[in-house]
Amino acid sequence: MSDQPPMDEVQLEVKSVSKRIYLSPPHMSGLEQEFVSQAFETNWVAPLGPHVDAFEADFASYVGTKHAAALSSGTAGLHLALILAGVEPGDEVIVSSLTFVASVNPIRYVGATPVLIDSERDSWNIDPSLAAEAIQDRIRKNGRPPKAFVLVHLYGQSADVAPIQKLCEEHGIILLEDAAEALGSTYHEKAPGTFGKLGIFSFNGNKIITTSGGGMLVSDDGDLIAHARKLSTQARDTAPHYQHTEVGFNYRMSNICAGIGRGQLAVLPERIQARRANFSFYRTQLREIPGIDFQPEASWGRHTRWLSCILLSDAFGATREDLRVAFEKENIEARPLWKPMHLQPLYEECAMYGGAVADDLFARGLCLPSGSSLSDEDRERIVGIVRNVAGTGR
Ligand SMILES: *Cc1c(COP(=O)(O)O)cnc(C)c1O
Repeated sequence: MSDQPPMDEVQLEVKSVSKRIYLSPPHMSGLEQEFVSQAFETNWVAPLGPHVDAFEADFASYVGTKHAAALSSGTAGLHLALILAGVEPGDEVIVSSLTFVASVNPIRYVGATPVLIDSERDSWNIDPSLAAEAIQDRIRKNGRPPKAFVLVHLYGQSADVAPIQKLCEEHGIILLEDAAEALGSTYHEKAPGTFGKLGIFSFNGNKIITTSGGGMLVSDDGDLIAHARKLSTQARDTAPHYQHTEVGFNYRMSNICAGIGRGQLAVLPERIQARRANFSFYRTQLREIPGIDFQPEASWGRHTRWLSCILLSDAFGATREDLRVAFEKENIEARPLWKPMHLQPLYEECAMYGGAVADDLFARGLCLPSGSSLSDEDRERIVGIVRNVAGTGR
């Protein structure tokens, strides 16, 4: 009996082994609860209200756009953006293959067809020269260019916007942006998401800030955002009775969620700093281990490091799946990069331009735990596992 540790130590040990480290968990600041309490006190428990208005105004001013509509999700935002862009059945829409499926599904919601494009190596976002080739090829095949372009900004980093903007202008293609993962990043001092006709952001639970679930649609065009607000509340016409002339949706953000959003937006600069600090820690600590490359930060702007992503080459001596499984055994969540859309059963029939870069990134890429609430101890544990796995697959 005497060589057994006292009971409280045993429990502590069990607890520390089982404490899961998530990829990107919510990180509340404390301010959120005050806003939520206000909503309760004033009984603004509705899919509209003063927090929604204030969150929209603060968000628009943060990203530097004239107008913003708070919605139930980023996916809802992209659906509305495609409708407002007039995308219809029979139209084609350009989008990167390496992305989350939510960038592409809304193209199907409006009956249009995705045209998939490979990534470039500098930012892992869409390759502008392949996009140019694709547009020429679609014009040859269809007699007209795609109707719209969904420009995705992955993992906290802007795509190379300028050449895409130029392409869209030249061919009369409507530019829409999926900046769901890129809040807080920059492209030459401006926020990705604010270059196109419409842009969307997400506040899902794992994003850099969260409202538990939610999204924002932004534009400099006030009429478009007014129309988006109408569409997102069942498209009620101005009349005391319920009158409708177009199909609407129930896509508005609740006043409770907007309260959480206001508290989160206030601490966004700190969240970016913490995520970038995770990334620098990983890069410094893992510098000596062969066969690990980090996602580059492109010359055109600031990467928030929403997720810290690595690529493993043969020199690492184990695969990304070996490493992921080793993390999982230690109750740590790491995740492969997005599986490209051209490899998905759902989208493998779509036209695809290039593919070697996205294939390679998917085969070798892993997202390390990246939450802004990671402790020093957590990060040490993570780095320790990478060191232990290096060389074990040889
Ligand atoms: C999270 C995400 C979305 C969707 O946002 P939701 O708010 O979850 O609907 C869209 N595109 C990308 C790239 C995302 O990561």
